[in-house]
Amino acid sequence: MKLILDRMLGKMRVWLRLCGYDTLYIGELDVDMDEDEFLLMRLKERVLVTRDRELYRKSIRRGREAVLIEGNDLRSQLVELKEKLSLTFEPVMQRCSLCNSLLRKPSKEEAVNVIRRENFPDGVMDLDLFYCEKCDKLYWRGSHWDNILEFISGLNSR
Ligand SMILES: [Zn+2]
Repeated sequence: MKLILDRMLGKMRVWLRLCGYDTLYIGELDVDMDEDEFLLMRLKERVLVTRDRELYRKSIRRGREAVLIEGNDLRSQLVELKEKLSLTFEPVMQRCSLCNSLLRKPSKEEAVNVIRRENFPDGVMDLDLFYCEKCDKLYWRGSHWDNILEFISGLNSR
């Protein structure tokens, strides 16, 4: 399932990408027209996720698949989306949380370049690494991964 988030729901994108969902955020796109019109007319293969009741109504009227999110905080918004679209929340190393690109294994040279540039400890080279070509960034399941798991398991237990 592919998603596009409106202006008010940008915080959700990182978590959705961490769970492998192909997620665009209007704030990260080049939009050369009225934003609401763009959300109604473009990228129609994606489900529109919005907090805007009017935009939601217009979408449905025009036959665009959309979900209205009513919760006020990130946690309840994610739970709401998960229930409304029957999503599965399980963190996977698949998508860059910054840009939504698919990750792949880095070549040795790519890994070395990033490790030098970022001053990562040498031991990082031996970890199970993933690479975003667009951001030139490495990912691995480090200590932050436990926090991610904890937050996401909290969403699943509600
Ligand atoms: Zn990226």
